[in-house]
Amino acid sequence: MNHTVTVLMYHGVGDERGVCAGADAHYAVSGRQFAAHLALAKQAGLRVSSVADLLRDPATAARGVAFTFDDGHASNGPAAELIARDGGSADFFVNPSQVGAAHYLGWSALRDMAAAGMSIQSHGYNHYYLDDLSPQEVEAQVRDSKKAIEDNVGQPVTLFAPPGGRVARNLREVAARAGYTAVCSSRVGLWHTADGAWDVPRLAVLHGTSDEQIARWLRQDWWEITNRRTRYAVLTSAKRLLGNQAYERLRGRLLRSAA
Ligand SMILES: [Zn+2]
Repeated sequence: MNHTVTVLMYHGVGDERGVCAGADAHYAVSGRQFAAHLALAKQAGLRVSSVADLLRDPATAARGVAFTFDDGHASNGPAAELIARDGGSADFFVNPSQVGAAHYLGWSALRDMAAAGMSIQSHGYNHYYLDDLSPQEVEAQVRDSKKAIEDNVGQPVTLFAPPGGRVARNLREVAARAGYTAVCSSRVGLWHTADGAWDVPRLAVLHGTSDEQIARWLRQDWWEITNRRTRYAVLTSAKRLLGNQAYERLRGRLLRSAA
């Protein structure tokens, strides 16, 4: 069956005033924004789902929107509660090396979230960019994170989201060998489920993303998605040309000058 699914990617979710301690402000949405996004999904008749649930029960993808969260910021706990209150679900991609650190969720919070129907998945063992690592190091990141999360949360880990969206050449093969069934990337676009789940595109929700933009993403507006894809293609080639470190420096400078 082929469905086209909007997959959103969040990081921190702040309080009503937008305060989100210990999170990158550029990537953190406010509590007001997040509540508005949930309301927009409801208005559009979409069920907030995890990618894991949509893969388990593909028929639900017809009326589903996937919510995913990277990094395991502590603010994801209250966000998960809001989602669970409406009977929804979401995927939370965490790094075992960060779990329990200041401003990050601990294992017991992650277990509570899993018990409430959330899917706790891997974002690598550390938050290392995979394209900076050797094939053996990539394999260790993919394998060891899965084991650590499964041991501590007690649910199978089947999804992997590469940190910073940086994909290693051998990622799919390594992930399949380690027992994953899907990779959620940072490639911009909509997820056509008939294409499989080895490169599930996601739309990054940022502090500067307007409610109107979210509404267009939920409607799967063709112009909006095409625009985003073009922007992403330009950024990706800049990363390739400059390398990760130079790109991060440039991004930091651009963000500071925009602030
Ligand atoms: Zn991340």
